[in-house]
Amino acid sequence: MTLAQTVEDLRRSYDSGLTKPLSWRLAQLAALRRMLVERAPDFEDALLADLAKNPTESQIAEIGFVVGEIDHTAKHLRRWLRPRRVSVPGALMPARASVVREPLGVVLVIAPWNYPVQLLLAPLVGALAAGNAVLLKPSELAPATSAAMARLVPQYLDPRAVSVVEGGVAETTELLAQRWDHIFYTGNGRVGRIVAAAAVQNLTPVTLELGGKSPVYVDDTVDIAAAAERIAWGKFMNAGQTCVAPDYVLATAAVSRRLAEALESALGALYGADPATSPDYGRIVDARQFERLAGLLDAGTTVVGGVTDPASRYIAPTVLTDVPRDAAVMQEEIFGPVLPIVTVAGLDDAISVIKAGDKPLALYVFSASAAVRKRILTETSSGAVGFGVPAAHLAVAGLPFGGVGESGSGSYHGENSLRTFSHEKAVLTKSLKPDTMKLIYPPYTDAKDRFARGLLRKLG
Ligand code: NAD
Repeated sequence: MTLAQTVEDLRRSYDSGLTKPLSWRLAQLAALRRMLVERAPDFEDALLADLAKNPTESQIAEIGFVVGEIDHTAKHLRRWLRPRRVSVPGALMPARASVVREPLGVVLVIAPWNYPVQLLLAPLVGALAAGNAVLLKPSELAPATSAAMARLVPQYLDPRAVSVVEGGVAETTELLAQRWDHIFYTGNGRVGRIVAAAAVQNLTPVTLELGGKSPVYVDDTVDIAAAAERIAWGKFMNAGQTCVAPDYVLATAAVSRRLAEALESALGALYGADPATSPDYGRIVDARQFERLAGLLDAGTTVVGGVTDPASRYIAPTVLTDVPRDAAVMQEEIFGPVLPIVTVAGLDDAISVIKAGDKPLALYVFSASAAVRKRILTETSSGAVGFGVPAAHLAVAGLPFGGVGESGSGSYHGENSLRTFSHEKAVLTKSLKPDTMKLIYPPYTDAKDRFARGLLRKLG
């Protein structure tokens, strides 16, 4: 079957009304949940093969994450789908107005390799909940997970309305040439531009979940050891290949010194004296990424790590201090286990460094000072802000997850996913009697003119 035929079949299923009943949507969510629970070992094995991801971490950040998203959605879906009444201006009374969520149609989900289960299936939860037919395109750079998806999804989900297409650039290019009702893309900004350019041909709405450099600001009002533990966890999970991982730290010289020492002991606690032998520490996804990261290690002073092994694509958790602002490691998203600490003069300097870069996907602040937190919150723009904790905001289903500017547009998780994969249709219902509309019909008289001027003031 050609890709075009696959998309046509999905459209036929959607047009038949198959995906619209709440009962179908809930049954699909339940089936997806069953797949994740019953086939957890298959996904854990695939993640181990693709990224050396520890099975417990796979449960926390991939499989269990999606199960949580399903449970939250299934619990609230009926309420989220209820028409929402909005008030009607006096001049239009009597009438009723409401917002009705309807599915968009056939949607394409393109996922990256770094959390290949979560980032393919969490969007699927929202797309199914909203009543769409869905085509899933897993990343070719996580081949074991991609194969598991292609094998298992059709066994559990309704194959008339959910398809998996494996492949790389060629297949994705062909998919992007089809007509979609929404494209949900997670990955880098370069491909994000290709996706947006393809979507514009059919005026297809897109959600772009992109990346970028997510900064951390640490000052001397906090418990540095506690902050270091949180930063080390958020940064080195999945060997730093996390879109919301702390990318770099901004701190004064005195804080930098203390933080670097604290990070060294935090890393010892997480991964032992030699992280190469830890079953909890991941590997770099492929040789190209390995080479790129190995080229970023030579900046400032290496406090911890710096060790690499090309054969196993191992890069030790690495902390660099006194990193110049123009170092290579400070130019692009790192997306690996290298944490540069850049010395700043203080808060003003930190804010100006943050503002000089693209709007980040996330920004983290470790400060006990409410005034400092407030200044960063109001003077900078980012997809999200974490005070005292990195990455964890994405586990709060009520928070929109997404970027701004170069870090993306649109958001999802929980009810935000439903919003993303629905059209919010405006519905106005007005009975034919009494016919107050007559007051504004031609022929226009002085009395109607006076009424209209008053009416405009009321509507305004
Ligand atoms: P990737 O290489 O797996 O690419 C993502 C998808 O794009 C894949 O499915 C791939 O097949 C497709 N693709 C690649 N080249 C293409 C092309 N020329 N035309 C059409 N499709 C193409 O993953 P990646 O982009 O390396 O992922 C890493 C990036 O994703 C980082 O920048 C990271 O910050 C970002 N990211 C963002 C989020 C988020 O939720 N905002 C989550 C994870 C990763």
